[in-house]
This record gives sequence, structure tokens and C-alpha cells, in this order.
Amino acid sequence: MSENETVTCIVDGKAYHVDEGLYLADLSTAIRQRVKRDYPKAKVTDFICGHHLLKYRLANVDAMINSDLKQSQKINRKLTRAMQSDDYEITDVNETLTNSLTVGERVADNVARFGGSWGFIGIFVFVLIAWMLVNGLQLFGVHFDHFPFILLNLVLSCISAIQAPIIMMSQNRSADRDRMAAENDYHVNLKSEHELRILHAKLDHLSQNQIPHTLEIEKLQIEILSEIRSELAELRDQPK
Ligand SMILES: [Zn+2]
Repeated sequence: MSENETVTCIVDGKAYHVDEGLYLADLSTAIRQRVKRDYPKAKVTDFICGHHLLKYRLANVDAMINSDLKQSQKINRKLTRAMQSDDYEITDVNETLTNSLTVGERVADNVARFGGSWGFIGIFVFVLIAWMLVNGLQLFGVHFDHFPFILLNLVLSCISAIQAPIIMMSQNRSADRDRMAAENDYHVNLKSEHELRILHAKLDHLSQNQIPHTLEIEKLQIEILSEIRSELAELRDQPK
């Protein structure tokens, strides 16, 4: 290429010096496609002047910003919808169970708690031994239940017959508590998973679109700056 070689800009058809613009081959793919959309006959050997090139570059930046904005708005809408679609109300298990407690259930709980303690075993063993000693050795001259303690047997069977359903009642209530807690957990997990999925989409969008686009815009700035710099150098070198 000679010093005075002139080329024609594909947009306005005017003659320019080679330094005043770029060949389509030197443009980035996105901008080249943008030019080709307006001028379908454009070839890679065609030239575009700096002034028109700037318009295409700005249009390209605008398009990137717009598409990023649309995409993040879409994801944000999804996230908002997911947050609002919370149709399940988390129940306070303890409060619900305490409020619905009847007197019978309260007694059952206390009996079951006492029946399952060392205190109960101690008292029970003491009563058994005392009963047998009193009746076997005829202490204090009292003996209402001779060996083999048939009355004691009857009392023991009665106690166990009553204790079993009381313990079952208490167990049913703890099973209710577990079921309610599990239901709460399930719904909370479901909701968290859904939100996590959308957050993932948001992060993906950031790392796959927004950051590369930002870098691309930065690159464009550097390109324009270097062009300005070379133009300045040219002006300085021109003979006065
Ligand atoms: Zn031009």
C-alpha cells in the first residue's frame, strides 16, 4: 500500500485515506455482521471510515446493554414470582401442639414422662418390696394378701393395662409433632431449591453474558483510544 492510497467508505461512498478507517476484515464479528445487515453486498475487503464505524460500534454496545438488561429483568421477575408464590404457611409446631392440648393429653404426657423415669422405677420397687414384706412376714400384724400375693398381681396387671394406652397416647402426639416438622421441612426445602435454581441462572447470566460484554466494551474503548492516539501522533508529525 502506498502512502497516498485512498479507499471509498462503504456507507457514504466518499474517498478516505487508509488510516481514516478500517477494513471490514479487521472488525469484530458482531460489528461486521451489523454492517453486512445494512449493506448485504459488503465484502471483507471493503472499507468503512472512522465516523461511520463509530456509529456501528455504539449501536453494538447499545444492543449488548439492552440484551443484558432484558435477560436480568427476566431472571429477576422469575425470582420475584418464586418469592411471592409462597402458598404454604410454615406452622409453628410447638405452638400448634400446645394450643390443641386437651387436659387428658396433658395428663397423658405427664404420666408417660413419670412412667419412663428412674424415680418411678425406684418407687415401684420400694412399694413391691414393702407389700411383700408386710404380707409375707406379717409385720405390724397386717396381712391382707397372703403368699403368692394374688391381690398384688391384680394391682400390677391393672397398672400395666392403664399405662400402655397412656404411653401410646403420648407417642401418637410425638408422632404428630414429627409429621408436622417433616412437612414444614419439605416445603422449606422445595422453596429453597427453587430459589437456588434461579440464583444459579442469575450467576450464569452474569458470568456468561454480562462480564464478557463488559470486557468487550472495554476493549472497544481501548481501540478507540488507540485510534485517537495515532491520529494525534499524525497531527504532530505533519509539517507546519
Ligand atoms: Zn463513511
